[in-house]
Amino acid sequence: MTAGSIAAYIDEARLWSRHVEMAKIGATPAGGVHRLAFTPEDTLSRRLLLGWADARGFQSQIDDLGNIFIRRAGIDADAAPVISGSHIDTQPKGGRFDGIYGILAAFEVLEAMDDAGVKTRRPVEAVVWSAEESGRFDIGCLGSQAFVDPSKLPAIFEKRDGDGTSVRDAVAAMKRGLPKLGQRAFRSPVAYCVEAHIEQGPELEAQGKTIGVVTAIQGQRFFKIEVVGEAGHAGNTPERLRKDAVTATIPIIAGLRKLFHDPADIVRFTIGRIDVVPNAMAVIPGYVMFTIDFRHPDEATLTRLGGQIETVAREHAGPCDVKVTEIRRSKTTYFEGVVPETILAATERLGYSYMHMPSGAGHDCRYLAEMCPTGMIFIPCWKGISHNEAEDATPADVAAGARVLAETLVSLANR
Ligand SMILES: [Zn+2]
Repeated sequence: MTAGSIAAYIDEARLWSRHVEMAKIGATPAGGVHRLAFTPEDTLSRRLLLGWADARGFQSQIDDLGNIFIRRAGIDADAAPVISGSHIDTQPKGGRFDGIYGILAAFEVLEAMDDAGVKTRRPVEAVVWSAEESGRFDIGCLGSQAFVDPSKLPAIFEKRDGDGTSVRDAVAAMKRGLPKLGQRAFRSPVAYCVEAHIEQGPELEAQGKTIGVVTAIQGQRFFKIEVVGEAGHAGNTPERLRKDAVTATIPIIAGLRKLFHDPADIVRFTIGRIDVVPNAMAVIPGYVMFTIDFRHPDEATLTRLGGQIETVAREHAGPCDVKVTEIRRSKTTYFEGVVPETILAATERLGYSYMHMPSGAGHDCRYLAEMCPTGMIFIPCWKGISHNEAEDATPADVAAGARVLAETLVSLANR
């Protein structure tokens, strides 16, 4: 492997030990991490990171949603920074790498730049995006959404967790536990944004590749399907008079599974919730509601298949009525141009095996891409397991992703 100039300063042992340190905060008996947004564990992790930043003399700032920006200064004080980071929070009983890897890799790059005495035109910043996971407040990417579109802030502040605590109060409580930091404005200029992350899927490991150059974050469409029949007595109602919503739902789901079957296995189609009313043993079910979570990296496919749901459901509904409601749609985010090109060039220069791939999961970069050129770097994770205490990655892959990130950030910071 021909090492680039900055990549040689990435310290695999230091980066790994930082993961080990971080994984102690919110550690679960099964080897995972339980560190929900804005909780004392989240706060403690940030203090640990800020302590490391302090020891290096890096300046840190915080915005109104608690996003933290750790800056290594550039030569041109007025130049917009290159930023790189991810989230410090986890899902309930999550893993040791989802999110935190992107922060620690970016921080490792700052330290490597210091060790190498590298000077860049632009500042480079390691970023902590608040509340990326939906585990506490039901919706995710709160920090990156507010940073990119401050008009969302009032609605985000009013969101509440299961105990009734608002985001506003949760952020305030966290800030009380942090050292005093400089204020960063939402939507302050950003030149480029890069996020390193574990793949959270099995492809890199299965293909024997070290680096994923991410081409897109696939779009999603969420639907609610209501099948309306008529409740009746299970003993007295003959079959010819029944409008049984469960009996109708079974062929509807079979028809939808056929519609969404994809020989290439790229379509992601999930029925994650089914409610039956009244859900009583001796009552013919009068009503069924089920959800569809449909994802695909290609907008045309999202439109085409999503548009056929209602027709297919009606075809199979028998005597029942069907109502299809789209709850939410997010478009595919494409990563194109200078950032993925710089990631690719760095990967090739360092001699790592790689593949281009879309991301199946959402990430903070989906929102950052709305305001600046953006890209993502994936590394393999064990069996593709994520959002799980068993989540794992190797020190070598963790360091490889950081080396690619280092080359990428320095190159972008000199543009
Ligand atoms: Zn994540």
